[in-house]
Amino acid sequence: KAFTSYNLSEEIQRALDALGYEQPTEVQREVIPPALQKRDITAKARTGSGKTGAYAIPICEVVDWEENRPQALVLTPTRELAAQVKEDFTNIGRFKRIKAAAVYGKQPFKHQATELKQKTHVVIGTPGRVLDHIEKGTLHLDKLHTLVIDEADEMLNMGFIDQVEAIITHLPNERTTMLFSATMPKDVEKLCHRYMKDPVDIQI
Ligand code: AMP
Repeated sequence: KAFTSYNLSEEIQRALDALGYEQPTEVQREVIPPALQKRDITAKARTGSGKTGAYAIPICEVVDWEENRPQALVLTPTRELAAQVKEDFTNIGRFKRIKAAAVYGKQPFKHQATELKQKTHVVIGTPGRVLDHIEKGTLHLDKLHTLVIDEADEMLNMGFIDQVEAIITHLPNERTTMLFSATMPKDVEKLCHRYMKDPVDIQI
């Protein structure tokens, strides 16, 4: 089955062609259709499975280019993953001119705040720095329609649970939430139950 079966816009399909993505990976096959229908999703999937594309492709598809404020937020446990995810969004959103910004610690706050003043469709970041930007008024999430919690088990292992929950309290209730995790310990399941509506459960 090819990506063409999803009837993606020409800009996204062209980007996938340019990346050499011929067929969706297993997690992409499971996640993309319900994500395009704006369902909440929990997916047990590890790095290397193509999980980033599984959420980045549908998010890039539904992003409204005209809107200047962030429409999607991706939380990651590490700076390295945030930078990688930003690159994936930039590649997949290339022909739609989607603007992704990454915000994480150990990098000048002011520089990131300046970047966030520009048109930004997708923000990717580690929980502490994202919360910092929200609280200082440099990140406005009133237009947000999609939240992704990536590597949720790692996020909890690293003690970010309180910050993740604090961020969620600042988000619009009318939103789609997707959670990806290599393992599904009790704490991750609790997080899903608390913040998701009737999620599609995907196990790869
Ligand atoms: P990830 O699990 O998101 O870290 O992706 C693992 C690797 O697979 C990355 O290098 C992606 O660029 C690549 N990839 C993702 N989706 C596809 C696809 N449909 N076809 C080929 N490569 C892919």
